[in-house]
Amino acid sequence: MSAHSGAKIGGEFALIRQFFHQKTQHQAQVDLSVGDDAALFRVAHGQQCVVSTDLLVSGRHFFADAAPRLLGHKALAVNLSDLAAMGAQPLAFTLSIALPSVDEAWLADFSAGMFALAQTHQCDLIGGDTTRSEQLVIGITIFGQLPRGAAILRSGAQVGDDIWVSGTLGGAAYALDLLQNGAAHVPELLRQRLEAPTPRVALGLALRDIATAMLDVSDGLAGDLMHVLRASNLAATIECDDLPMPLELQELPQLEAWRYAVTGGDDYELCFTAPATQRAALTALSVAQGVALTRIGLTTAGAPNITWRSQSNPAHFAQMSDWTGYNHF
Ligand code: ADP
Ligand code: MG
Repeated sequence: MSAHSGAKIGGEFALIRQFFHQKTQHQAQVDLSVGDDAALFRVAHGQQCVVSTDLLVSGRHFFADAAPRLLGHKALAVNLSDLAAMGAQPLAFTLSIALPSVDEAWLADFSAGMFALAQTHQCDLIGGDTTRSEQLVIGITIFGQLPRGAAILRSGAQVGDDIWVSGTLGGAAYALDLLQNGAAHVPELLRQRLEAPTPRVALGLALRDIATAMLDVSDGLAGDLMHVLRASNLAATIECDDLPMPLELQELPQLEAWRYAVTGGDDYELCFTAPATQRAALTALSVAQGVALTRIGLTTAGAPNITWRSQSNPAHFAQMSDWTGYNHF
């Protein structure tokens, strides 16, 4: 890119150098980083390279006035979450960013949020593209690695597997609703579910030898679990009484709380299947990692479909039967 650079801080290259040039490199496998026409990295012998991309568009995926530090965190977090869902180890990422203007304070906070999370996961920013546009758009492509054949696919679930979910569900969607409806107070922990999700990278790695199928819950449990069921050609039964939810949701009327937990997006928790023989291992893993793991149902033989059940309130079934996940189109 050449034309129309932000003159205020000396153009596009100065901007990249100032805000997107990582000072330290973590991965020995990165041979060439920001500064040339392309970057170079190696994956270790016997490993596969895992690639995933996510695009965040202002007004669609985040509020135009979102805190830049949180936005930097979230843009990378959603990509790390995709690697976690494959059981992959993060290695490096690229950042493509379209900016309406060059706002130094905004860029400093955005890159600080992004690099703090990158540091946590020893993941290097190795390149990208920077341009001007009316609308703020952030695209990250992330690269990771795992031993050949070790990826946890959506297609691996077996009949009778338990269905598990990490953390809690519905909090991000509830926080979004509260913010959009101008709530006077949104509890901090709930806000964090939406604005600063924690990618379950270490959990994803540990599940390699345990889970039969996995994905991250980005568009809501109902829609996302259907992806696993279609890929594995199975049906599922979910016990709504067992859905793990943040405290704030537990205080809502039950059906409303479940609607958030089942259809709400943006939680970035892992949903996976595993044989019943792994229950003790998963309980131990939950303790070891300090992340809640909850068994919410079972896969069954049959056409891809989810049956929502509740011992405590069977009357809710009918209303829940047509709940689906978020779909952009
Ligand atoms: P080219 O014109 O050859 O595509 P660019 O001028 O777009 O090169 O980029 C110069 C260097 O800066 C490249 O190494 C590119 O990967 C890197 N880069 C550009 N934008 C970003 C960004 N937002 N984050 C990280 N690196 C970037
Ligand atoms: Mg370029």
